[in-house]
Amino acid sequence: METIIGIDLGTTNSEVAVIQSGRPVVLAEDGDPILPSVVGLDPQGKLLVGRAARNQYALSPERTIKSIKRKMGQDVTVALGNQNYRPQEISAMILRALKQRAERVLGHPVKKAVITVPAFFTEGQRAATREAGELAGLEVVRIINEPTAAVLTYDPNPPEMERLLVYDLGGGTFDVSIAVVEAGVVEILASHGDTQLGGDDFDQRLLDFVCDRFQTEHGIDLRQSLVARSRMIGAVEEAKKRLSTEPVVLITEEFIAEKGGVPLNLNTEVTRDEYESLIEPLLAKTLKCLDDALEDANLQAQQIHKVVLVGGATRTPLVHRLLTTRLGRPVHAEIEPDLAVAMGAAVQGGLIAGMELGPVLVDITPHTLGIAALGEVDGFPTPHCFSPIIERNTPLPATRTEMYSTTHDGQKGAEIRVFQGEEEDTRLNALVGEFAIQGLSAVAAPNQILVRLDLDLNGILRVTATERATGLEKQVVIDNMMERFRHRERTDAIERIEALFADSDDFEEEEDEEFDEGADTSDEGSEAVPEGAAQVPDDSSTELQRAVEAAEVQIAKASSLEASASKEDAAEMKGLIQDLRAAVASGVLADIRRITTELEDLIFYLNDA
Ligand code: AMP
Repeated sequence: METIIGIDLGTTNSEVAVIQSGRPVVLAEDGDPILPSVVGLDPQGKLLVGRAARNQYALSPERTIKSIKRKMGQDVTVALGNQNYRPQEISAMILRALKQRAERVLGHPVKKAVITVPAFFTEGQRAATREAGELAGLEVVRIINEPTAAVLTYDPNPPEMERLLVYDLGGGTFDVSIAVVEAGVVEILASHGDTQLGGDDFDQRLLDFVCDRFQTEHGIDLRQSLVARSRMIGAVEEAKKRLSTEPVVLITEEFIAEKGGVPLNLNTEVTRDEYESLIEPLLAKTLKCLDDALEDANLQAQQIHKVVLVGGATRTPLVHRLLTTRLGRPVHAEIEPDLAVAMGAAVQGGLIAGMELGPVLVDITPHTLGIAALGEVDGFPTPHCFSPIIERNTPLPATRTEMYSTTHDGQKGAEIRVFQGEEEDTRLNALVGEFAIQGLSAVAAPNQILVRLDLDLNGILRVTATERATGLEKQVVIDNMMERFRHRERTDAIERIEALFADSDDFEEEEDEEFDEGADTSDEGSEAVPEGAAQVPDDSSTELQRAVEAAEVQIAKASSLEASASKEDAAEMKGLIQDLRAAVASGVLADIRRITTELEDLIFYLNDA
């Protein structure tokens, strides 16, 4: 089948992808899938495209052109060396570099491409993009909208009509689109955006914050020196990216300035909280656009089936939090957000070439991973508060760090209990491992402890706890996370099915009767398995596991009621909880079930009273 490459020609970065073995793959060179959309000439007049051109921008802006996409469709020229070029010619240089990359990686010539453009591009801007492709030696088989590409990446053929909200925050631009996809056809219902808002603005806010601090301390404005400024631009962008996965970063630049002949170093810490307060006003603007797009599409937030994140800047955790709160549902970022558009362009190319393509499958964490911490659940203080570290649906491999504090002065150790699940109360999630970090410094609380989770593609989870002040570290490796995820999925499915059946009493009775007739009474411990769940493997160890999980749920519910119950009821409940814990410890299935039911009845009675 002929190769049609997909190209995301971005304002800041560009990528090229192709379908390989039925899946879109972004083509990387030297391990880097991203080609910065920057063109330049080196001091000898040699053409530079990509990272090399970007690196020289701060020091040689007169020999470098970036963000040419902003000028596409305009009747202007830009100077590069002693020549003037139209915007489509500069874009053609970027496209040519991507075409050559594809040919080098694939090992054969490439002629056809699908290129993406923003939904708000006019006909003139689209025509200029098409011309750029032709100047680069490509036959542009189709120009598609970026949100359309993102939708195609997530699922070109959902079983039923789906409404998606595509939130795209790149380096220099932002847009939000509402799309409908049905049988491989994507329709954009509404699109809003801000062509002057993106991750570069976040860099600028952080740059000002750090430079203001340095100026207060040393009386020198680093922004005034071209060299210092260029180093700072790189340093803050790096720091910003690290703040997406780390709660605090140290920015260091040696000999960044000089005062009275003495060299000065920059050495400053920025916390994620500080950074988030700098960018929150910018993100508030994006939420306004989102409201406008929903209004234009005549839809309520609840009518959106899926929220999809696109653009490198959506890796910022605050973006996830704000959107989850605003739209009342988790966001989808399973596909690397800066690669999703190129992948969608490749999917479109594949569809044009006649391939049958389904949803893109990527390796993700199906459940949230986190630890137990002191906090509040339903307004009550508890040590069982689940503090997420790696959110569900994060692409693998994933590494995230969060910061915690001791609560007592002179606390010598801390228990790290790792759970998977989505409940606020860790007792309703599954414990995957626990260990203690001992030998902490004898200091007053709060003593900060960093907890890092690294989950690789083989399902190996490394948990590292580090005392921030001393670097004291304890690490454990938990194998077989994939098996645990699958187990959890199975138990979740069983619970869901049981919950459905619990709602229909009549049906349940009938089923019970039927089951009783044909049941093998020799196995007293087994229970009715509804038809729909028949293919779920069921052995005695999973039964025990299910019973233990059900017991834990009832214990957690009972514990939350203890404070409000009368003295007598509380005492009865306490007794039952103790018995149930003993039964769980002894592993006798019949006892666990019996006492769980008793506890359940008591909870029911208390809730009803
Ligand atoms: P794009 O135009 O989609 O390639 O997005 C580029 C923008 O995403 C730049 O502003 C990057 O600094 C930003 N970006 C890339 N990775 C991250 C990250 N891990 N956290 C926050 N921003 C990021």
